[in-house]
Amino acid sequence: MKTKLIAGNWKMNGSLAANQALVRGVMDGLSGLQVRAAVCPPAVYLSQLQSLLQGQTALAWGAQDVSMHEQGAYTGEMSASMLREFGVRYVIVGHSERRQYHAEQDAQVAMKAQRALQAGITPIVCVGETLAERAAGRTEEVVKRQLAAVIQANGHCISEIVVAYEPVWAIGTGQTATPEQAQEVHAVLRKQLQAATTQADRVSIVYGGSMNAANAAALLQQPDIDGGLIGGAALKGSDFLAIMAAASQCAQAS
Ligand code: PEP
Repeated sequence: MKTKLIAGNWKMNGSLAANQALVRGVMDGLSGLQVRAAVCPPAVYLSQLQSLLQGQTALAWGAQDVSMHEQGAYTGEMSASMLREFGVRYVIVGHSERRQYHAEQDAQVAMKAQRALQAGITPIVCVGETLAERAAGRTEEVVKRQLAAVIQANGHCISEIVVAYEPVWAIGTGQTATPEQAQEVHAVLRKQLQAATTQADRVSIVYGGSMNAANAAALLQQPDIDGGLIGGAALKGSDFLAIMAAASQCAQAS
C-alpha cells in the first residue's frame, strides 16, 4: 500500500494569523506520521505558506486553481509558472465548486491539468457526480467522462496526476459516501487509468466529501482509496491531524 496523501482544501477561509496558528499546530502533530501531507490555502496566502514551510518536506502546500493559459490578458487568473515560483507542489483542478460557480468544463479542466504538469506541479483532478446523476444511475458515466478529458489531453503524463473522487452531494454536507460506495467508484477510475497507462498504480486516487476524524479510517482502509481531499475538517488542526493519523495507521498496517 502506498503512503496515503492527505490534502486540505481551505477554500476561501483563513487569515494571516489563523493560517500561522493552523500550520504550526499541524507541523507539531505531524512528526512520526507516515503520510504525504499538504494544505491548499487561498492563493493570496501562498507566499505566507512558502515562508512558513520552506526548508522542510513534511507538509507541502498547493493552490486551489490555476489558469489554463500561460500568460496574457486574463484578469484575475494565475499561471502555473507563477504558482511554481511560490513553491507549490499541488494544484486542485476541476473542483465541483469551480465547475458549478464558474461553469468550468471538462476540456478546461484538462488544460489546467496540462499547464500544471508542464510547470512541474501535480494536479489534483476532481471528478464526481451530483445527487441527481447518482439517482439516475449515471455515476460511472459522469466520472469516466470527466477523467477521460484529462487522460486525452495529457497522454503518458497521466501517471503524474492525482485523482480526487468527490461526489458533489457529499461536499460540505456532512453526508459522506460509504466506504463501499467510494471504493466502487475508485475501482472504476483505477480501471480507466490502467487502460490508459501501464503506470496506473502510481496514481493516487483520493476521496473527498465530508471526510472527518470519525469516518476517515474506514474510508482509507479501502484498497483503492489512496488518501483524502479534506475541506471543512482541514480547518481545525486536531481534526486534520486525526485524519492523518488514520492514514498513517493504514500505511503502517500494510
Ligand atoms: C472539498 O471541498 O474538497 C471537500 C472535500 O469539502 P468537505 O470535506 O468540507 O466536504
